[in-house]
Amino acid sequence: MTSLVQVVYCSEAKANLQAADIEQILHYAREHNAKKSITGLLTFDSKFFLQVLEGERQAVSDLITRIGRDSRHQRFCLLCANTIYKRDFASWSMAYVGQTKLNKTLLLNYSTDGKFDPFVFTTESVLMLLRDLATTSVVAG
Ligand code: FAD
Repeated sequence: MTSLVQVVYCSEAKANLQAADIEQILHYAREHNAKKSITGLLTFDSKFFLQVLEGERQAVSDLITRIGRDSRHQRFCLLCANTIYKRDFASWSMAYVGQTKLNKTLLLNYSTDGKFDPFVFTTESVLMLLRDLATTSVVAG
């Protein structure tokens, strides 16, 4: 039996990224992830991406390699990778939380200044933020 894993990374969008690019990424991700039984959540504030992916170890590993090479973003940074017993985001092939839901009140729970900068979050706070977003703010997926 193979392991279930959960991987979180963050990155920075390329300056020329458009809203249509996000739509395209989500459309592709939802179709591909559903085929591979990968679940997760993507959040984006117009500058930074933060994404959690869950699924079979090799499938998640292959996907994270492809995402890391994608020219639509830069500064790809792995924040954590764990074997898990149970998924946190099982309801979504790729949930999405946009900028309007990443408000200062929410972010103050997990940061010193209420700003969305996943590069400075701790592993624990990033996972708590993602779980919080899944229960309060998911708009689709
Ligand atoms: P590719 O040949 O790389 O691309 C397949 C299709 O993706 C192309 O037809 C094209 O329309 C589009 N595409 C790829 N790169 C670009 C580009 N630079 N500009 C415009 N369009 C492009 N994929 C998933 O399957 N699941 C995910 O959860 C997922 N999350 C992502 C999150 C982020 C922040 C980003 C930037 C990308 C994500 N992707 C996701 C897309 C992923 O990076 C790959 O593009 C995709 O998995 C296909 O890879 P490929 O090598 O098979 O095909």
